[in-house]
Amino acid sequence: MARGSVQIVVERCKACGFCVEFCPTKVLELSSAFNSKGYHPPHAVNPDKCSGCDLCGMYCPDFAIYGFRVKEAAKTAAGADGATEAEPEEASDAS
Ligand code: SF4
Ligand code: SF4
Repeated sequence: MARGSVQIVVERCKACGFCVEFCPTKVLELSSAFNSKGYHPPHAVNPDKCSGCDLCGMYCPDFAIYGFRVKEAAKTAAGADGATEAEPEEASDAS
């Protein structure tokens, strides 16, 4: 289960491969696709292994990638605002 996530700014990447090399859990690989500069940016091949450590971001010379931690099983408990809608019954006398 992923504890982190990684974002890649494809157009900034120059395909040096540092992020691929230094990711401790081997989340990344260089893609076969090109960006507009003709480089192969990385993509996440094992996103479930991302810890969000941001080592990729620290090594990237072009600020083209960053990792961040995500809250496990982000529970979005809806309906906790306590707003109960009571419908007041108005007895309207037809005059
Ligand atoms: S370290 Fe940065 S520039 Fe190098 S391949 Fe990864 S994202 Fe691209
Ligand atoms: S945040 Fe860490 S685990 Fe995730 S891709 Fe980057 S280096 Fe790998």
